[in-house]
Amino acid sequence: DVLVNQIKAGEVIERPAAVVKELVENSLDAGARRVEVDVEQGGLGLLRIRDDGHGIARDELILALERHATSKIGSLDDLEAVGSLGFRGEALASVLSVSRLSLASRQADAEHGWMLAGEGVLANREPQPSAQQQGTCIEVRDLFFNTPARRKFLKAEATEFRHIDLALRRLALARFDVAFSWKHNGRRVAELRPCLSEAGFEDRVREVCGDEFTDNALFLDETRLGTRLWGWVALPTFSRPLPDLQYLYVNGRAVRDRLLGGALRRAFADVLHSTRYPAFVLNIEIDPRGVDVNVHPQKTEVRFRDSARVHDLLFGAVHQALRKVRP
Ligand code: ADP
Ligand code: MG
Repeated sequence: DVLVNQIKAGEVIERPAAVVKELVENSLDAGARRVEVDVEQGGLGLLRIRDDGHGIARDELILALERHATSKIGSLDDLEAVGSLGFRGEALASVLSVSRLSLASRQADAEHGWMLAGEGVLANREPQPSAQQQGTCIEVRDLFFNTPARRKFLKAEATEFRHIDLALRRLALARFDVAFSWKHNGRRVAELRPCLSEAGFEDRVREVCGDEFTDNALFLDETRLGTRLWGWVALPTFSRPLPDLQYLYVNGRAVRDRLLGGALRRAFADVLHSTRYPAFVLNIEIDPRGVDVNVHPQKTEVRFRDSARVHDLLFGAVHQALRKVRP
């Protein structure tokens, strides 16, 4: 079973950033209003994710660390309209199989928290009391300590931290209402206050994407046939390369989609005669039954039932917004 979990780990977590993404998604699924991440040595020394979500009951801690024990879907039908970010129930089990992990959690009505820990496998199946505020704290140390081949594939600390930073920025742009902060080797990298109204969204975008993006960005918001597209596209006046300024969300989930990326590039090329990659933060809100997110273990790809319609909305709205500034 450890081996199965390690194989699964190979699919789900190829580097520390993937662990961060899975664990922070769990925090968001748990209704956290605040997520704090501590990273040491590019995530290879330590990843600590702390949230103030609803926590895990003592008797469910063990289930949380076992594969396919997800509580988030009741049936296969639920997969159709899955609203939570995680639904496969294998992330925590996979991370445990390749690290030294501790999971501490406390529910609002509990007298104190409970914790479990292990190295590759659980050291003890009996939860121990822990001093813990409401919410959950997961510490992952020495990632891939027992799979040296995989550890060898990792890049320098700074590179691994860049991936983590990007993963966190992606998550922070999906949830304007949640406070995020993260540190690397004790140094604060980001401290993002929650934005409780749409008026504050641009502040978050500015903090995550920088002044150059925000000062050159056009806001758009368009709904066609029940599908809404909103967000920011920036005119390509950028001095720095942009792969880290392309954020696309479908129903709050960060996705990468060649078709949609192509629609954006064509809109930019058509109006601006620029072949540079556009920078954008865009959200598509669509009936969940019209989109399939269960395509890939990392859930970053989507399939639309009516992809031509989504494509046309994206191309049309961005084209129109660009035409207003560059007729
Ligand atoms: P999944 O998210 O696919 O259900 P995971 O392995 O990521 O599977 O997590 C297993 C279970 O552990 C979750 O279904 C959830 O019940 C619980 N869990 C994990 N992290 C948290 C958290 N931060 N807060 C509350 N519950 C959590
Ligand atoms: Mg999960």
